[in-house]
Amino acid sequence: MRFSKLRLTGFKSFVDPTDLLIHDGLTGVVGPNGCGKSNLLEALRWVMGENRPTAMRGGGMEDVIFAGAASRPARNFAEVSLIIDNAERLAPAAFNDSDQIEIVRRITRDVGSAYKANSRDVRARDIQMLFADASTGSQSPALVRQGQISELINAKPKARRRILEEAAGISGLYQRRHEAELKLNAAEQNLKRVDDVIETLT
Ligand code: ATP
Repeated sequence: MRFSKLRLTGFKSFVDPTDLLIHDGLTGVVGPNGCGKSNLLEALRWVMGENRPTAMRGGGMEDVIFAGAASRPARNFAEVSLIIDNAERLAPAAFNDSDQIEIVRRITRDVGSAYKANSRDVRARDIQMLFADASTGSQSPALVRQGQISELINAKPKARRRILEEAAGISGLYQRRHEAELKLNAAEQNLKRVDDVIETLT
């Protein structure tokens, strides 16, 4: 799986639809202070399912919507689309039915976020799992924000372990284990109830 295009519409300072083509190899984004370099990286994190407003340098998730400027009114929604080249068919099974996958996340004021994968409605969890299984995601150490290198150097062993687990593509397993534990607990509770019913009947 290779990211080939990022499209931002109404996301932070990118009020008009803006395409960023991602070619093979290393991609560098250069520009003067305040031109939106970090906003691009945040758009990538956001479309991969980031849900912490602080990771978007905001107080609430709606802060990613274009807030207006002297000459332009605020927008009512923000949308980011990520095109993934899946010609090699390396995507997880649920997404592996086409050579190209388009993931779209849209947030509308007072409504919230919705995700689509190739025009199909999907849950945030499906998107987060897609990227976790592909050894990337909104918290991937491959997305290096300002100040992060010194944080990594000073990181505690537990934090370093998370980076290795992410690189190995097993970070999605934690969420699945948690969900399996919840189901197991619910099944045990049901079994207890069945026992109680049997006891009252005998
Ligand atoms: P630097 O090189 O200084 O780190 P940068 O190129 O990374 O800057 P960003 O931090 O990505 O720039 O962009 C900051 C710009 O985005 C600011 O001008 C800010 O006003 C604008 N901005 C952020 N959020 C919004 C929003 N919701 N609506 C409109 N503009 C926004």
